[in-house]
Amino acid sequence: MLKDKNRIKIQRLKKPVRVLGLHQLPDNCDIAKAELIKKPDGYYIHLTCYIDKQNEKQEKINKPIGIDFGIKHQLTLSNGVKINYRIEETKRQKKLQKKLSRQQKGSRNYQKTKQKIQREHQKIYNRRKDIKNKILSLLRRYEYVLIQEEQIKNWHSGLFGKQIQTTGIGGIISMLKKNIETLISVNRYEATTKICSRCENRKEDITLSDRTYKCDNCGLVIDRDLNSAINILKIGLQKVEETTIKNLPLDWWDVKPVEREATARVLGSNPYVRVSYTSVKQEARLF
Ligand SMILES: [Zn+2]
Repeated sequence: MLKDKNRIKIQRLKKPVRVLGLHQLPDNCDIAKAELIKKPDGYYIHLTCYIDKQNEKQEKINKPIGIDFGIKHQLTLSNGVKINYRIEETKRQKKLQKKLSRQQKGSRNYQKTKQKIQREHQKIYNRRKDIKNKILSLLRRYEYVLIQEEQIKNWHSGLFGKQIQTTGIGGIISMLKKNIETLISVNRYEATTKICSRCENRKEDITLSDRTYKCDNCGLVIDRDLNSAINILKIGLQKVEETTIKNLPLDWWDVKPVEREATARVLGSNPYVRVSYTSVKQEARLF
């Protein structure tokens, strides 16, 4: 049925139709089902495909990963990978809203503008969904995923309400909870931003504007979010069976080539996502 990476042949339609996003399908998959769906901004094809279990296993990354969710950097992983994305209302959307407010309710032009707004909404929704799916696809390769979910709630009431909405962190967390069986959530009262991830010394005077964590006790200088991500990882792993941790290789927490490769491959195709790395530079062993 797949003609090439851009076109798809549909029954009862003479010509193959051009479809965007087919490059996301793995080369070795068998398509089981295809459904045509109509949405405000056009037609979509919903594909169900079979992937060989053996192939899926090879994609696994045999180590746990901790995640710190933030405003400045949306996700910081305990291996030093930072994932940034931001999807805001488009200029076109704002313009259309203005136009709509000047038009007579119920008129033909009013309806037309309304439809255009719906289409813009759908576009943004799709972009968000794609980012969420890609983040899930990356994280589900890890053996355990450790988060501190209640962090977010404290922000909602304060300054950051609007910024959180554009990042949709809450949506990402609920998606992870639904889809990752080995998700471990760390208690919200754990002071993961205040504790040094190397010597566990507690520092009280750290504010949101401090981007670097400097430990007065052991001298560790580390990216603030990375410090938190490692703490979340360490605290969360206390809930995991000890043998799992003992079987990990000595340098497991550093980012490995296979992780870099997977991160670039999974997230690289979305233009709204930016991936960067911050080095772990921890001289002491984590455990
Ligand atoms: Zn320290």
